[in-house]
Amino acid sequence: MAPVGPIGIHHITAISSFPDENVGFYQQVLGLRLVKQTVNFDDPYTYHLYYGDAGGTPGTILTFFPWDRMPGGRPGAGMMVSTAFAVSREALSYWVQRLNGTGIPVQKAFRFGEPVLEFKDPHGLTVELIGTENLPSISHWDESPVDRLHGIRGFHSATALQSRLEGTQALLTNSMGMVLHASEKNRYRFKMNGASSAGQYLDVVVDRSAPKGRLGTGTVHHIAFRAKTDREQMAWQAHLRQAGVNVTEVRDRNYFKSIYFHEPGGVLFEIATDSPGFAIDEPLERLGSSLMLPANYEGIREEIEAVLPPLQTQAFEHAS
Ligand code: ZN
Repeated sequence: MAPVGPIGIHHITAISSFPDENVGFYQQVLGLRLVKQTVNFDDPYTYHLYYGDAGGTPGTILTFFPWDRMPGGRPGAGMMVSTAFAVSREALSYWVQRLNGTGIPVQKAFRFGEPVLEFKDPHGLTVELIGTENLPSISHWDESPVDRLHGIRGFHSATALQSRLEGTQALLTNSMGMVLHASEKNRYRFKMNGASSAGQYLDVVVDRSAPKGRLGTGTVHHIAFRAKTDREQMAWQAHLRQAGVNVTEVRDRNYFKSIYFHEPGGVLFEIATDSPGFAIDEPLERLGSSLMLPANYEGIREEIEAVLPPLQTQAFEHAS
């Protein structure tokens, strides 16, 4: 039987340049918690950094592969081109000031009746803050430099750019249980199934003349959707395979299990399980404070640590 559809975005993974600058921006400016310092399981001599709410709740997690020797990417067709977080409408003027105070220019827009602030992180990744009445419940990180009232409340949505809509729409609605919720000009909003969980929307912007995107720093590597249990993930795998989608085997990512596939427009999709979560290898109060390795890399910890210097988490000073 077909699964009912993902209840929301699980995480989004992007490529950054220098890790210290990445931590400085996401933790010190955006106020997210670094919930895990680990390595890229497919490339263990590079960091994999995870940010989220206090507990790393699915739907709040933005992760980075800091590949500082990689050239800059180019967002384009077949890629996720922006990541939007939810904030309260009242918080938007605070964020304009806060971002401008760090020298980051902010563009304002309206989308489906909600105000949007758009800006780029230090390595060129497009990030948005959307003021919404429909705030997901997350667990605020008490040590965040941003207070609870103004703080980021998990994902609002994420946007893919495509040169054609049809194939992507068919996969999302016929095989992934999403519904076309609204459209505005060339933007189509698909909704997932979790009423109050973070990251309910996947937007597809269609531009027939958009050049193909190129992966590199400042671009999104993939987007992951939630499966509540291992069993639900297996059901997804079987269901998608039946629909002719080329889905990987289940991979153990320590903090969740993952399957991957490309949607027809070229974006790498993942379905990730909610459990076991980030407190599996370090206590909740110490999440993100030291380099955690999966068991199979503990034997080469010294070599890894020789290549990955400890993070300087205070790199970005907010000039308020
Ligand atoms: Zn992932």
